[in-house]
Amino acid sequence: MENNIIEVSNVTKVLGGHAVLSDINFQVPKGLVFGILGPNGSGKTTLLRILLGLITPDTGEVKVLGQNPVSMTREDKNGIGFVLEDHGVNERLTAYQNIDFFAQVYGLAKEKRRARILEMLDKVDLSAYIKKPVGTFSKGMKQRLSLARALIHEPRILFLDEPTSNLDPEGTVYIRNLILKLSSEEGITIYINSHDLDEVERICTRIVIMKHGNIMLQGAMADLLRPNNQTTLEVKLEESEAFPKLVNLLNTLSFVTHFKIEKGAAFIELIDDSSRLTLFNTLAQNSIPIKEITQIKNSLEDLYISIVKEEEHHEVQ
Ligand code: ADP
Repeated sequence: MENNIIEVSNVTKVLGGHAVLSDINFQVPKGLVFGILGPNGSGKTTLLRILLGLITPDTGEVKVLGQNPVSMTREDKNGIGFVLEDHGVNERLTAYQNIDFFAQVYGLAKEKRRARILEMLDKVDLSAYIKKPVGTFSKGMKQRLSLARALIHEPRILFLDEPTSNLDPEGTVYIRNLILKLSSEEGITIYINSHDLDEVERICTRIVIMKHGNIMLQGAMADLLRPNNQTTLEVKLEESEAFPKLVNLLNTLSFVTHFKIEKGAAFIELIDDSSRLTLFNTLAQNSIPIKEITQIKNSLEDLYISIVKEEEHHEVQ
């Protein structure tokens, strides 16, 4: 298998007469924290179920660890760990028993099990609660337990469905840090379904944004948000007749990396923050009639909202 730990090619799925996934294509390189972001109903869970081999696509194919998940052997599946949204821990069993049950399902040899379970509980800071029934745990503790359980068989990829939904801020920070640690220190590829923009922006290095079963945008986070030292300005003019003059001028400026004229404004990307003053001076020297200049913030939220809004606009029409 080459560098991609997941490959999704031309996947479509119709459920209840609706196209839930339409021609989905993406790859997940090894070792990343990868995020699928999208509002409810965008198809994230259906895609996850396909990747876990629980359902099959109507057309196209998926490969996880180089193989079709549906035809994986028990041994092949040991490379995969997952935590679904309702984490499914048994509240009547203790923390230890919950993991032990899973470890047996995964066929871990009895003599290895105990040490491995204790190691996993320690990893998620639950060592002090080994013998406590899970029914007494907070939501955050249950989520930590389900992560420990998902890691018991040393998977190379971990699928997480909304890993911090319904957690308090402390629990959320804990899980996010744990995810980053698993990725950076153990090289585990993490695939996250999320509708939490802040979460995805903080921990994912590559993302796919979905809506209504379509991929709206995908790429490396750094590329999508552009580097911090790149400044984008929105320039509005007093007279729209002056735009051609502005375009001619911008074409000659070496510190302008990119620009576009859209919705009655010029969006100008500068090579660095310090070029702002040079741009203001140049515009003034060339008598460009400026009405307003605002700096565009490059956040995932802005990007996401612009995609969702654009879509809603089309739907209304
Ligand atoms: P997400 O996880 O992004 O919220 P889902 O994959 O759960 O999205 O759902 C995508 C769409 O598919 C929704 O409109 C949902 O109602 C529909 N859907 C999911 N499962 C089924 C099913 N078994 N039968 C019919 N429609 C379904």
